[in-house]
Amino acid sequence: MEIINRRQRMSSVARKVRREQDQTIGLVPTMGALHEGHLSLVREARRMCDIVVVSVFVNPTQFGPSEDFSNYPRDLTKDTALLTDYNVDFIFAPTVEEIYPKNFSTYVTVEGLSEQLEGVARPGHFRGVATVVAILFNLIRPDFAFFGQKDAQQAVIVRRMVRDLAFDAEIVVMPTVREESGLALSSRNAYLNDEERHAASVIYRALKRAKEAHKGGERSGSRIAGIVRATIETEPRARIDYISVADADTLERLEKMDDRAILVSIAVTIGDTRLIDNTILNRAKQKEAVTTQV
Ligand code: AMP
Repeated sequence: MEIINRRQRMSSVARKVRREQDQTIGLVPTMGALHEGHLSLVREARRMCDIVVVSVFVNPTQFGPSEDFSNYPRDLTKDTALLTDYNVDFIFAPTVEEIYPKNFSTYVTVEGLSEQLEGVARPGHFRGVATVVAILFNLIRPDFAFFGQKDAQQAVIVRRMVRDLAFDAEIVVMPTVREESGLALSSRNAYLNDEERHAASVIYRALKRAKEAHKGGERSGSRIAGIVRATIETEPRARIDYISVADADTLERLEKMDDRAILVSIAVTIGDTRLIDNTILNRAKQKEAVTTQV
């Protein structure tokens, strides 16, 4: 395994792999502080591709001015040890200056999708995400890139960008990995104390109730959202930011739920930590089907 810090080295290594060795490249973009959620993506990349590149880059352009960019957990030594165990070929861990050279001024904006849901509380977040993913795709030219359903809106936006800008990469979205309590694994869970962590399990319970209600025949978006809200409100430590019931491909909010794939997504703050989670209803109908399931 090689750790690469320079963009030039990254692109020349990737070019060599593609052209001279005719091997497929899988890219797993991460911000590090790796957990089992990230590792499920790495495992799938290892299974599907000849060469696996994991990028570890805490991307400043996707953080708002009052967000946790400087405090975000970073531990490249531990991440490197984990990725060695997973037989990863390259870790791309560039500095901020390497990704954003002096006078950097070109951004990718996926209009319409980026201003909704997470985009309301985090303006500019998805512009930062789309821009860094575009840079990584251009440097590495992956055949496959792996993302988590945990960040559902991110996956929708990356897919749209790939289609619109004709990137030659296939996007693979993997299911959310959870703790036994149901809490979705996230690097930001490190901010939760024991009570908050316990309280956070209400998020998954609420999503499960939505799923059960839908299975039982409920087809009203607002009533499904109401069920989620009522469950979250049983937990006094949780403050709801949004609950959305929307078309899983367009993110357009739905009242009458038909047989389209539907994304039920939630953002909740517990203590000082903002957590997001989601579930898909009618998954089999999802237009841009989830490529692989664990
Ligand atoms: P991050 O380091 O938070 O930017 O996440 C890197 C990738 O890992 C993203 O595609 C996330 O959606 C994915 N990911 C994060 N948490 C999970 C999880 N609990 N289950 C599955 N994928 C995850």
